[in-house]
Amino acid sequence: MTRNSEISYLDYNATAPVLPSVARAVADHISAFGNPSSVHRSGREARSIVEAARESVAELAGANAQDIIFTSGGTEANALAIRGLVNAGACGSVLASAVEHPSVLAHVNKEDQIAVNEGGQIDLRALEGILKTRESPVLISLMLANNETGILQPIAETVQLAKEYGALVHCDAVQAPGKVPINFQSSELDAMTLSAHKFGGLKGAGALVLKDGLPIAPDIFGGGQERGRRAGTENVVGILAFGSAARFLMSAEMDLARIRQLRNRLEAEILGQVPQARIVGHDVERLGNTCCVIVPGVSSEIQLMKLDLANVAISAGSACSSGKVAPSHVLLAMGIDSVAAKCATRISFGWGNVDQDVDRFLHAWLPLVTSQAV
Ligand code: PLP
Repeated sequence: MTRNSEISYLDYNATAPVLPSVARAVADHISAFGNPSSVHRSGREARSIVEAARESVAELAGANAQDIIFTSGGTEANALAIRGLVNAGACGSVLASAVEHPSVLAHVNKEDQIAVNEGGQIDLRALEGILKTRESPVLISLMLANNETGILQPIAETVQLAKEYGALVHCDAVQAPGKVPINFQSSELDAMTLSAHKFGGLKGAGALVLKDGLPIAPDIFGGGQERGRRAGTENVVGILAFGSAARFLMSAEMDLARIRQLRNRLEAEILGQVPQARIVGHDVERLGNTCCVIVPGVSSEIQLMKLDLANVAISAGSACSSGKVAPSHVLLAMGIDSVAAKCATRISFGWGNVDQDVDRFLHAWLPLVTSQAV
């Protein structure tokens, strides 16, 4: 795969570069202007692009094509899952782990956010304690992998618990494709969120995977698209790119072991050379591409700026919240104090990375942190 050797892009959890095969598919179809709802030939061509992509996304997700509701991305799919299931009467209230993405937490009352342990994983006993007190069916929203730390959540155990209490489970799996296996049906989930730009598609396309037969109220209404579940003319090219990226992931070897090795080499160097450094989630199950590191005394902003000048792209906490100085809610929920949390950075690898990227990072980063760490 081609790579830009001038820049070390180490921010795949924020967004992944568009895959070359996706870029080619987009270029080939950029003039496919038909409206998929039109009955004439251009419309039918656009419809067939959308439906072919739906098949590919469904296969990647381990779901049926009719379970896929295309949205404008992960944020909208999360809103649709939560508000749509509540508004359709499928559940009466929503619980979520305290480390969910803001696009989930925005829909969840503070008192309904479930604590996580020091390892960043949901406290299943606290969850059960709340489930016991609820009379009407509950929706539990739990992410598969955290975007800031890469920490994986105990989805199977949560689904098991949910069954005992008649609860539904929605999983924000935005960070999973191409990094860890996903299978909607065998995981026995009720709803699952995906976003195309996190694995080589375009921004502005995502999906909610919804269990067959579950009622959902559209969050955006005023048109019958997506079988009445999400109104608005489909983003045909974005959806095409989504399907194309899904097909690539299913057909290609994603180099996961190689990516994990790069991440592990980076962490070994960090821990070996900076005794004050702490790798968040080092001892728990997490994505093989993600390194969240805290160096007390060296603010994330300083680290980011220094690395940007050295042509290395990383994030402070989550990219969605970078640019704001507030410490990450994920790290705070894990019991990390706010002073330390403001010194956290996230390095996330992907298919385009090579050893040179680790070297470039270390070359720029080590002199900074070794001189300032406290
Ligand atoms: N959920 C998670 C875990 C994410 O990492 C993100 C993006 O950072 C989103 C949801 C939002 O997805 P989108 O950018 O497609 O709106």
